[in-house]
Amino acid sequence: MVNRMRATRAHRDNRRSHHALQANRLSKCKDCGTLHLRHRLCLNCGKYRGRMLIDVKEIIAKKEKRTKEREKVAH
Ligand SMILES: [Zn+2]
Repeated sequence: MVNRMRATRAHRDNRRSHHALQANRLSKCKDCGTLHLRHRLCLNCGKYRGRMLIDVKEIIAKKEKRTKEREKVAH
């Protein structure tokens, strides 16, 4: 690189002025009203745009089972 091509502090900082990160955009679930990430399914009710995608109740039941089994092992 030739010295005349060297970016000045202002040049460098102007370039970096576009590098800021944005916070995640959240939107309200149509079905249950909680916030969820845009273009992702709602983790509260398991729906995306009104379509049922995952059975949240089943997952919660499984998790409870697992924790109970762990407690049994611990005692
Ligand atoms: Zn929801």
